Amino acid sequence: MPRGTKIVATVGPASNTLEILTRMLKAGVDVVRLNFSHGQAQDHIDRAAMVREAAALCGREVAIMADLQGPKIRIGKFEHGKIELRNGDKFILDAECAMGSQERVGLDYKALPRDVKPDDVLLLNDGLIVLVVEQVNDREIFTSVKIGGELSNNKGINRQGGGLTAPALTGKDMEDIKTAMSFQADYLAVSFPKNAVDMEMARQLANIAGEPYDHKPMMIAKIERAEAIPLLQEILNASDGIMVARGDLAVEVGNAAVPALQKRMIKMARASNKLAITATQMMESMIFNAVPTRAEVSDVANAVLDGTDAVMTSAETASGKYPVETVEMMAAVCLEAEKSQECKLDTDFLNARFTRIDQSIAYGALFTAYHLRVKAIVALTESGSTTLWMSRHNIDIPLVALTPSRTTQRKIALYRNVRTYKLFYNSDREAVLRQAEKILLDNGVVQKGDTIVLTWGEPMGQVGGTNALKIIRVGAEFVAD
Ligand code: PGA
Ligand code: MN
Repeated sequence: MPRGTKIVATVGPASNTLEILTRMLKAGVDVVRLNFSHGQAQDHIDRAAMVREAAALCGREVAIMADLQGPKIRIGKFEHGKIELRNGDKFILDAECAMGSQERVGLDYKALPRDVKPDDVLLLNDGLIVLVVEQVNDREIFTSVKIGGELSNNKGINRQGGGLTAPALTGKDMEDIKTAMSFQADYLAVSFPKNAVDMEMARQLANIAGEPYDHKPMMIAKIERAEAIPLLQEILNASDGIMVARGDLAVEVGNAAVPALQKRMIKMARASNKLAITATQMMESMIFNAVPTRAEVSDVANAVLDGTDAVMTSAETASGKYPVETVEMMAAVCLEAEKSQECKLDTDFLNARFTRIDQSIAYGALFTAYHLRVKAIVALTESGSTTLWMSRHNIDIPLVALTPSRTTQRKIALYRNVRTYKLFYNSDREAVLRQAEKILLDNGVVQKGDTIVLTWGEPMGQVGGTNALKIIRVGAEFVAD
């Protein structure tokens, strides 16, 4: 079995050449993440073009995920780039301060003083620095340093427990959505959504910006705010998937709460027919070292066992010393974890209520394939939805999507356990089915004589029309040639 868990890799200065990017794709990257927290529009446009070029060199479809910066609240700059805070120091966050010093620093979100009150705990630099609020006026937050350390330019601020009111989509995000749609980003990740409305708004803006290109991206909600947790189901309903964004989430809800939340989020996503990405610090020590820690290996493996569609790299591949090795290592860990996973088709879907014909074919194919022990379940699909439904269940049989649509192939790059190949439709059903067999044989997915389950829609070539299921023995009709 090839690896079923997908890999999302962030590109940055460490991976910004065609050569390294191509090596990363060959090592197993399925989705490339462009982080809009860094760089200018043109940088992302250039990188997207490079990803498409590298994918073409590898002969594969790779998805691009544009990750919006969102309303991450940051401090301003310091005169000397950084300061050192000691426990017990007094420090002021000042909305009007232009240049930071040992005493105070500016804020990019001027309304922050309105959102905090005495005794609130503010966490800077991903929680490494802890400030306790003592007093607040219109523009200044007076704090006492509880845990000090080095504080450098533009570090992020979170409030323990969440609740900062900055809107999910900033003016910059709205511009960035246009940029991302200009190169038809397959996935758009929204940072810090608070509720379903934030996701609906982002989707609407993306669809409008995508209109000239006839493009609609898949929407990923990054779950990284405490407020999003109780609203997870409505956020899922408004999105195509979620990211377990452990970096900011851990700061808001506390480190210890994150592992259980990760399991719950992935489970809920799958049960809702949505995707899940597990992100942040998965191979953190590989920023500097050629091998990960035992704990990092376990973390990646456990995310696989939790059922995540993909594991993600951040700084490891964006600015680390070993971008290619990180991907190789992740791929190897995923594969090994998958082998160890006991594969028993979960039978939840037997009790699921559904009214759609295509969904009933998808579940029928799963059930049939599981009991007949076929070699592959092959869906001829325009939109990919048949394979999405099938991939939400544990089955140790490869799922293959054959589609004429490149956009669909890229979208499916993130779906766990699904591989795609390009197929050309025409109205001659028998010819298309023979073409499907040939693709599977040519790519070594099956061998002559293997039994497979095929699904498709009749008449051939219509979106959302899966209504047929056939069990065939591959090559049976090839006897003549
Ligand atoms: P970021 O999001 O890397 O954009 O901050 C992921 C996270 O917070 O975990
Ligand atoms: Mn984040």
